[in-house]
Amino acid sequence: MIDLLGRSVGTIEEVIKHNTLIPLASRFIRPEDTESIVSHFIEGPRGGLASKVGMAGQASGWAKHRLLRCIKCLKEDIGSCGRPFWRRDHLLPGILFCGKHQMPLHIPCETCLNYSRFRDRTLHAGHHCGCGLKPVPEALQLTAEQSEVEIELARVTSLLLDPSYMPTLDFQRVAKETSNAASEIGLLEGGILRHAISREYLSDSPFSSPLRRTGFLDFSQFAFGEVIRGDTTLRHPIPAIAMLIALAGSWKKMEERSNAPSDAEAKAAKANNVQQVIAPAFVLERSADRIAEDIARYTELRVSRPELNHSQLRRRFGNAAQRYLTVERLLAAGVDVATTSNRTKDASDARIVEELIAHIEQRSLHLRATQYPHRITTFSLMSTFRRPNLFHQAAMLKRLIRAYETLQQHVENTAAWRERIAATGITTIAKPRGKKR
Ligand SMILES: [Zn+2]
Ligand SMILES: [Zn+2]
Repeated sequence: MIDLLGRSVGTIEEVIKHNTLIPLASRFIRPEDTESIVSHFIEGPRGGLASKVGMAGQASGWAKHRLLRCIKCLKEDIGSCGRPFWRRDHLLPGILFCGKHQMPLHIPCETCLNYSRFRDRTLHAGHHCGCGLKPVPEALQLTAEQSEVEIELARVTSLLLDPSYMPTLDFQRVAKETSNAASEIGLLEGGILRHAISREYLSDSPFSSPLRRTGFLDFSQFAFGEVIRGDTTLRHPIPAIAMLIALAGSWKKMEERSNAPSDAEAKAAKANNVQQVIAPAFVLERSADRIAEDIARYTELRVSRPELNHSQLRRRFGNAAQRYLTVERLLAAGVDVATTSNRTKDASDARIVEELIAHIEQRSLHLRATQYPHRITTFSLMSTFRRPNLFHQAAMLKRLIRAYETLQQHVENTAAWRERIAATGITTIAKPRGKKR
């Protein structure tokens, strides 16, 4: 990074503000960690930098340091030397898309990527050995829906790189907004985490794919709870932003919260205390806005989880909301209450079967094409699906039998696995993967 900035002009403060990832990273870590990163930048390398910004440790394989570029930006970002410059937005380890052009970032070949050995390949962002630039493989594995989520993450990280945008969003604010949003949707009640519901809520969120690929959904119960309660924050901007959006509903809502006047915050805090003290029966009615929001969320859930009936859907809300989310009230609001008539159930089953079969076939092809070293199991085929635990319910297995049969056809037994590995010429066989759950 420092080398890349060798020819930049301006004071060191200006360079940090406009040319580094520090304005983004510093929002998710403690001030003393930011200080140490800044001194690393000014005075030379210090230990532990990667862990300070959440890019070290077992689960950090997803955040690769690669010189990624957007081929459309390369045409627009021409520096004074007449060559395309590097965009810091694309150099955040783990980012897959260009938020501006909504397309996957590109990489050159392995040789070009080894920039410590082939420094001339980093001369400018458009330079390569002649291999051409290809989209990052991770981006190609995503569904259209997951790609949209990654594009939104890229857009938000770019916004947050500007220190004048949402200037009050720092690690304390991130922690506070996380726990506030979690309380509002009923994942926390009186500060107590409803663990199973929280995991389910996040697994079902459109933002589950970044939370999954960054390892957050595999966190232990303890570490998971610490983040949702706001006792700690995720240090890497990607899972941290994904979490905020998953809980708040959208980044727009996060912006609104951050613009809210501070006395409203004080009032909200007071109201929360009151709610904890007064017996729940007395807080039956909430504001009309709040009720409308819950009804809207019920309607969304109704569409995204067509297999759940009314009482299952209702259980996913906090106690107070459960009291007013009655069949009568929902019908009065014009909501299609989940009575699971057979006809709608059949239609949604048919849709999910097709989606799932396409997913399994594509995933299996991908694992084979990339010489996946482990045995291809139900887990390796299902873990990237938007509902990886679908077949944990015996009832779903029977209802989606065609998809389940496809799954069985693509799972490998040990003999088939050994044969496939032998055919690739890899001599050592990887140990089978431990079960994740
Ligand atoms: Zn671009
Ligand atoms: Zn190359």
